[in-house]
Amino acid sequence: MDRRSFLMTFAALALGGVSWARRRTKPYVWMEASLTGSYPYTLPDLPYPYEAIEPAIDTQTMKVHHQGHHATYVNNLNKALEELPSFQTQPLEDLLSNLEKVPMPQRTAIRNNGGGHWNHTFWWKLLAPKPQEPSVSLQKRIALEFESWTSFRAQLLEAAVKHFGSGWAWVVLTPAGKLRIVTTPNQDNPLMPYSDVRGKPILGIDVWEHAYYLKYQNRRSEYLANLWQRLNWEYVETLLG
Ligand code: MN
Repeated sequence: MDRRSFLMTFAALALGGVSWARRRTKPYVWMEASLTGSYPYTLPDLPYPYEAIEPAIDTQTMKVHHQGHHATYVNNLNKALEELPSFQTQPLEDLLSNLEKVPMPQRTAIRNNGGGHWNHTFWWKLLAPKPQEPSVSLQKRIALEFESWTSFRAQLLEAAVKHFGSGWAWVVLTPAGKLRIVTTPNQDNPLMPYSDVRGKPILGIDVWEHAYYLKYQNRRSEYLANLWQRLNWEYVETLLG
């Protein structure tokens, strides 16, 4: 950094610290409307019946995942926000991307349950009630950065299989317009400052055991191979838009 830009940065920090910091800590673009609605958050209905993703994901897993796990994230997120009136009006995407500004007693609860609510709202939209082929234009866009569709599939599924413990595998559109694969632990996601790659998630794969254990037990790679047939590539493509 040369002297002039150092001084400019210093002045920006000193005089306009807040707006400078906001620009720095929001390196993602999401859609105009929040994906998850607003506080108090509610469990969204699935856009299809519980049995719609059979046989890749069984009905019982879908039910427990939605009515059990997702509902609990929503309730615990609301509880944490109840104690933080000044954060209630922030879109969840902003809250998650600026977690370092959330007071300590509630930060972990918002990270885990806000992440849980956002990730699962996204997850239901990423599942397709009917098998879909990715469009030629989507395959071309992907091939620009991952060599080929086949190589993209291999890299993403490998990341998902190898992720240790609970978490998610993501495809992220970075602020520079690149596509990257990253995994996050627990309910973290690429909006959060903790993610190794930050940006706009265009695809996320739930690799928590609760997402597959009833049907697949320890066979995560079999779950992923079957899930691949039921991803909503049309939705993914709209996010790349
Ligand atoms: Mn889950």
